[in-house]
Amino acid sequence: MKNAKQLECSFCKSSVTESAISGPDNIHICFDCIQLGNQMFESYQKKVGRNKKKPSTQKNLQELFDKVPLPEQIVAFLDEYIIGQERAKKLIAVAVYQHYKRVYSGEMKDGTVMKKANVMICGPSGSGKTLLAQTVAKLLDVPFVAVDASSLTQAGYVGDDVESILKNLYHAAGKDIERAQRGIVFIDEIDKIAKKSSMYGGRDVGGEGVQHSLLKMIEGDVIDMGRTTSSSRSAGLPKIDTRNILFICAGAFSDMEKLKPDRVKQIESKPAIGFGLTPTEEVQDSVEVEPVIKKHALFSNLTVEDFILYGMIPEFMGRVPIIVQLDDLTQQDFEYIMTKPKNALVKQHQHSLAISGIELQFEPAAISAIARQTILFGTGARGLSTIFEQLMLPIVFNFTGKKIQSVTVTESYINSMEEADLLVVKKRATKRKTVS
Ligand code: ADP
Repeated sequence: MKNAKQLECSFCKSSVTESAISGPDNIHICFDCIQLGNQMFESYQKKVGRNKKKPSTQKNLQELFDKVPLPEQIVAFLDEYIIGQERAKKLIAVAVYQHYKRVYSGEMKDGTVMKKANVMICGPSGSGKTLLAQTVAKLLDVPFVAVDASSLTQAGYVGDDVESILKNLYHAAGKDIERAQRGIVFIDEIDKIAKKSSMYGGRDVGGEGVQHSLLKMIEGDVIDMGRTTSSSRSAGLPKIDTRNILFICAGAFSDMEKLKPDRVKQIESKPAIGFGLTPTEEVQDSVEVEPVIKKHALFSNLTVEDFILYGMIPEFMGRVPIIVQLDDLTQQDFEYIMTKPKNALVKQHQHSLAISGIELQFEPAAISAIARQTILFGTGARGLSTIFEQLMLPIVFNFTGKKIQSVTVTESYINSMEEADLLVVKKRATKRKTVS
């Protein structure tokens, strides 16, 4: 028999002089095992996100509140990445500023509830809708997640898909539930879940149901992410409060003009100037700019009623009251997108060829020609990447690893895509020039 100072830990079986916990039937747990248990419990709590942090202090909230950039600072930041869309940038900046001021001040003033105002961005494909939302999240250093509304099912409020948006946000926040609760959710292709019956007289095949399933989440509710039973990955996930999550919905709403024949007629009767588009003569010759201008004019004054007519349900639009409209990008916008931002395509490809010792240049007229072709593509700035892929292919394939000093992309090369239209300077030729 062991004496009182020689106990055996029932877990690790080591001899100890003192028991941290003693139970019936001579059960003892030593201090080392208690410590180990504590560590395991803490790491489990962290893993499942139940690690209750100390409630945010007044000081923390004040710091966050003070850090929210002013609308004009937000616009200045957006200007570094996004070309054009001046009005949209201002609207987004104010919406985001108001939202985060509400989030931080709302928490400070106990009991004060200010209504959340989510955002609807409407604009053509490739005009910068995602980029705007992403860039704002980057500036504010809040978690960001983008989802495609057309991939959501009508499973209802408890549907995996709708909840999966929040799970993705939680993961984007590094499983920090407080950060996740202040994040931004970008729901793209929202027009794809419009009620079909509104526009085409047919039966809705699910869009309305998905809109309903999004309502509570967008308005603000506490959702149990661990409640879903189908996925073991969901087990143990915490509840998430969506009241302070900013939802930015976006869509092209490309057939909107069909719903507004009177508006279109009104626009058709006006001269096609003054809507922000300033096409060059060449563009007018080669590109059908008229429809673009008309559509742009129609889109410049959309109301909640227009969206309801399109098939968004009134309850949904009531929760997304801020409407931001993006313009079709102009030729000059495309020229700037190619050349100005930090990660502009021209800069990227110049850098890539410079690694192979080749200087890549673009004639200004070539840049304009690419911009014109991009307008023809009709996929917004996304078309630029496609064109660059095509124009760079022969250059990279034929010249890297060769004794080439520089390659200049000319306007005629853009139009012909014939290698002979590139201006190529060989290394030897340059050397000879220097010697002479
Ligand atoms: P969408 O409006 O379809 O969401 P995106 O924001 O995804 O378009 O834009 C696609 C790509 O085109 C972006 O990654 C970005 O490189 C470029 N782009 C689009 N619009 C702009 C813009 N206004 N300024 C700079 N780049 C842009």
